Amino acid sequence: MAGLMSLVLFFLQRNFPPSIKGLGEWAVSPLLLLGAAFLSGMHNHLPPLVTVVIPFVLAVACVSAAYLGSQRFFGLTPARRRWLILLPLSAAAAYWSTLVEPDFRVRAMLLTLLLGSIYALHARLVYRHGPRTFSTWLCLFTLLCAILIQALRFAAAWDSPRDTSIFDPTSAHLVFLAPAAIVFQLLCISLILMASERLRLEFQHLATHDPLTNAFTRRHMDEVVEQELVRCRRHGRAMSLLIMDLDHFKHVNDVHGHQVGDQVLVQFVAQVKTLLRQPDQLGRFGGEEFLLLLPETSLEAALQAAERIRAALAQSPGEPRCTLSIGVTTHRHDNDTLGTLLARADKALYRAKENGRNRVEFA
Ligand code: GH3
Ligand code: MG
Ligand code: MG
Repeated sequence: MAGLMSLVLFFLQRNFPPSIKGLGEWAVSPLLLLGAAFLSGMHNHLPPLVTVVIPFVLAVACVSAAYLGSQRFFGLTPARRRWLILLPLSAAAAYWSTLVEPDFRVRAMLLTLLLGSIYALHARLVYRHGPRTFSTWLCLFTLLCAILIQALRFAAAWDSPRDTSIFDPTSAHLVFLAPAAIVFQLLCISLILMASERLRLEFQHLATHDPLTNAFTRRHMDEVVEQELVRCRRHGRAMSLLIMDLDHFKHVNDVHGHQVGDQVLVQFVAQVKTLLRQPDQLGRFGGEEFLLLLPETSLEAALQAAERIRAALAQSPGEPRCTLSIGVTTHRHDNDTLGTLLARADKALYRAKENGRNRVEFA
């Protein structure tokens, strides 16, 4: 199962966009567990250095790799060197409690203490940075189970004989090993779910946001205007729609170049966003035309908002200077549709252009 989980995570790392980080460390983690389990399983054929000490270190590395992967997944930079020091230290502890002063209890308590502490750090990280979604809760749940298992095993190790081994079929060993293995698989599944969820959010962002200006896309605006129309019809609310078009933008491109034109568009969106209320939605309609939805806004209030935006742009000091024409309309009839609203706003915009640009008109 660990090998399979590792394979799936490596596959995701290869295919997911590089903006989703940490998948490599997550993929290595179950691989280390597989190595630990394989070497422990050779206890009848190989010396304890290979079947006890190395698996001890691999188990610590496995749990650490999962934690470091999560750090990277949440955009933090792991202190890798500090974590690497942990490996020789745990190797020394395992060596001492296996070959110098052989004592199963001490070794089990050291290991459970180390694993439990790293799981606890991991749980704190996920709790602090994870979005409140199912995959985050599943991950937290499995980490808390893992901590509980380590804590119980620590307590049980206290009562164990010095010379036992995890392969002695005592109920304590069975009770802790099986859930520990299952919980680790569940942890891997929750990590895979978290990565898939992140991918879904990234695609959703791509589909709803214009890559240049980060305003909403036309498709998203169509959806939110339709939704707002339904609300207006049902609750008799007001809503207004603005089409904004930069004046003589072709001239800006011709004189200053396309890149400067792009920058003007980016700055325009950033500036307008500072003038909006929280529920207002700004989208790029295409080229240098933008759509602004103002929910719960009467025609008078929308005209004031439009005038505020027009004036702010006309007065902004940066070069190249650019002005804005705005067409405003408001929801009027129950049979108003996205199409009729856009047609009216477009008519108003056309009038603003006709009447000399850098002005607001309504229809
Ligand atoms: P008007 O005042 O009548 O609106 O004149 P205008 O020049 O703004 O209108 P027109 O529709 O003739 O030209 C729009 C220009 O916007 C043409 C096109 O090159 C430019 N444009 C459209 N999209 C982009 C873009 O993403 N980046 C840049 N830099 N320019 C763009
Ligand atoms: Mg224009
Ligand atoms: Mg235009």
